Amino acid sequence: MPTEEEDTRKVQTAVAGFPDADRPVYLPMDAASYDRFIREYPTREFYCGTLLDGCGRKLTARKYRDKKCHFAHVVSGRCRRTSTNETSADHLYMGRALAAWMKEQKYRNVQVRYKQRGQNLRETVDITYTREGSPLRHLMRVQLARRSKAEWENTDTELHEQWAGVQWLFGPDSMLANWQMDRQGYAIRIQCRPSGVTRVVEVGVQFADAPVEWVPLSRCRMTAHGFQAPALAITPTGLVRRGREARPPASPPVETPAPSPAPSPAGVGPVPSGGSRSPAPTLDHFRAGDDRRATARVVSLLDRLDRTGDDLHHDQLQAALREIAGCEKAMWHPLGPPLSRRVAAWRAHLDAMVKRPTLREICGYADRVRWALGMVAARTAQPVTWMELGDRLDGRLPALHPDDKVSVLVEVDRATCSDRPLLSALVAARGNRVHPLYAQVLHHLDRPVPAAEQAQASWEADVLEHRRLRVLEDRQYSVIVQRLDRS
Ligand SMILES: [Zn+2]
Repeated sequence: MPTEEEDTRKVQTAVAGFPDADRPVYLPMDAASYDRFIREYPTREFYCGTLLDGCGRKLTARKYRDKKCHFAHVVSGRCRRTSTNETSADHLYMGRALAAWMKEQKYRNVQVRYKQRGQNLRETVDITYTREGSPLRHLMRVQLARRSKAEWENTDTELHEQWAGVQWLFGPDSMLANWQMDRQGYAIRIQCRPSGVTRVVEVGVQFADAPVEWVPLSRCRMTAHGFQAPALAITPTGLVRRGREARPPASPPVETPAPSPAPSPAGVGPVPSGGSRSPAPTLDHFRAGDDRRATARVVSLLDRLDRTGDDLHHDQLQAALREIAGCEKAMWHPLGPPLSRRVAAWRAHLDAMVKRPTLREICGYADRVRWALGMVAARTAQPVTWMELGDRLDGRLPALHPDDKVSVLVEVDRATCSDRPLLSALVAARGNRVHPLYAQVLHHLDRPVPAAEQAQASWEADVLEHRRLRVLEDRQYSVIVQRLDRS
């Protein structure tokens, strides 16, 4: 076997030409596409590109019939590149495609930056440009990395101070499009999709009530009002959702699937009143239509929560549940039981999240628990349970989430000298057993964590140490008292 076989990393992307190139290359995994791929790149100059966070060394494209084709380093060795999958060059595909698209539209001084100071690759892609006849520089930012709402808003404010115009495009994982949608009614999304031996860049407009319709960049334009995709129309006041230009938000006729023989202009006018085919729709029809639309929105919100809800901050979760509540309120009939159950589960999850204490509350608990355990240590060194702590200090303590109990104890012992046992050792499980969270507290405080079978014995040793110290300190105390008596 040749030594290069040692490189077992499955690298799916590279750059072509030279190590610092921004020309991304994507190797399809199937052997059938491999030959097409090689025809495209006859010189086979592939590198573990620096703009991919790679080592810059040469790669060869490997063809396999029995497993996925991939790139491998020609010379094995250490490579610090962590992201090697098929999406790992998408920032380069996006940057190049957007820059070329802007140049085609005759924008000037178009420049791409893949990395901002203090950031990593794949967090953002910036395209800067000027318009003809104006020195003002504008920014188009592709947000790829996930950020919180507050972080994004701060960045947005800063960018607006620096640039004459700021256009946001949101990548697949940024989780920020909803906030932009709240602001302006829509958000521009961007993604890459594999297509033969390359990846194509697609954009779409995200609205609150419809799935994103992806289109190639060539069907979009950059306007003075911002990024215009086919779903958006230009009006004197800016870009708005196509079909909603002139009228206030009217409900579209999603009522009956029967095609209307004479469609109204733009297809979204009010329900035709003089329909030739069917009798005039009844009130029930309208109500059913309302309910269908509201239900569809609830389903899409729930699907989003199922996909991403665990990672949301509680205010984001709250906003989604508020919107669901609004939909429910607007409905003529209640949601069906399966949907109601899903909604109830997310509400319960939110309640549990909201009830978790803040860090400040954790520190408040910790101050009181530290005081109580200090008293225990000085008097008897006899461990207490969370229930007993609850009786003495605060009834909420025993009901805390286990993670919060660990946090409280970590705060209790944060300043404990390393040559003394933790005060947390004085919190036991019932029956004078080591508390199951004790190991986590030790771990968080960089103390040695005993193996599971040693946990009880090790904890008992810590409690004994507390008793030894108590006796010692008692003696010192009586010595001092005796001295005082004598003097
Ligand atoms: Zn490498």
